[in-house]
Amino acid sequence: MEESHGGDRTRSLLCSICNQRRPALKRPKTLQQICRECFYVVFEEEIHRVIVDNKLFKRGERIAIGASGGKDSTVLAYVMSELNRRHNYGLDLFLLSVDEGITGYRDDSLETVKRNEVQYGLPLKVVSYKDLYGWTMDEIVKMIGLKNNCTFCGVFRRQALDRGAALLKVDKLATGHNADDISETVLLNILRGDIARLSRCTSIITGEDGPIPRCKPFKYTYEKEIKLDYFSTECIYSPNAYRGFAREFIKDLERIRPRAILDIIKSGEDFRIATSTKMPEQGTCQRCGYISSQKWCKACVLLEGLNRGLPKLGIGRTRGVTGERQKDDQQIGVKNLQSKACGSLDF
Ligand code: SF4
Ligand code: ZN
Repeated sequence: MEESHGGDRTRSLLCSICNQRRPALKRPKTLQQICRECFYVVFEEEIHRVIVDNKLFKRGERIAIGASGGKDSTVLAYVMSELNRRHNYGLDLFLLSVDEGITGYRDDSLETVKRNEVQYGLPLKVVSYKDLYGWTMDEIVKMIGLKNNCTFCGVFRRQALDRGAALLKVDKLATGHNADDISETVLLNILRGDIARLSRCTSIITGEDGPIPRCKPFKYTYEKEIKLDYFSTECIYSPNAYRGFAREFIKDLERIRPRAILDIIKSGEDFRIATSTKMPEQGTCQRCGYISSQKWCKACVLLEGLNRGLPKLGIGRTRGVTGERQKDDQQIGVKNLQSKACGSLDF
């Protein structure tokens, strides 16, 4: 939410919705100057429209809200529980968190999630890397250093959320991705030439053929407008710099032209993927049964590397690796993974 600054002409105007109170912010989407009270009303009703128009949920469904303790998922938990009551969606809501085992980072944000559990009365399930994989991120970083840690974390988180959702027996997972995140992802996928991801990343519901479909009720919501009671901190293992640059670039564009964020999403949506582009085929991991387009899923490949003391297995370039490593890759039949963006954004 952008506060309007004192001293300028906007002070003397009245809220363009109620025409009674002083405006407290200017909406980036519409450039309307509105008061705080009217903002909450229009904000929540917009999310309601997105949910209804896109048929995100069906009555009676069990829905997990991916809760990282960050602002987006905290606001999502609040808005979802509010709208569920107000508009009688008839949904069973749960909070689902992942504990990566990062001392001093996740412990704090998990406290926020536990507060949300009480505040909104939503049952919470926490799944940890330690329980699922036998490794915490602290232990992984100790072994591999700070170079590819986010690759491990991103791959493990994605699967951890699916496993947590399966334990909760939910029908869908709702995540707090906002319009800024999605436009960043569109840009990154273009920069990386990742057509398969580009064609998926703008969809409001994904993974309908996978274990648990995911949806993004904040797809059209500006990050600036998502501010409430939240606690947020940077991961001490510092997120990937490439996404950081894309994020800064988008913020610069937004300053000049606020619509840029929605325009980038629109461009991503309107890309037509040539039918000659080869898309990965989905199968299942021969080791753990998770969905995978290769013989082993990414998590199993990374875990194999960790457990055998070959943590570079399945990561980055092949240059300078031993014959054993190349043989390993061939045996397992995996493509090398590129370092991915902070998995927190996968929430
Ligand atoms: Fe995990 Fe994100 Fe930290 Fe990387 S920056 S280690 S993906 S939480
Ligand atoms: Zn697997």
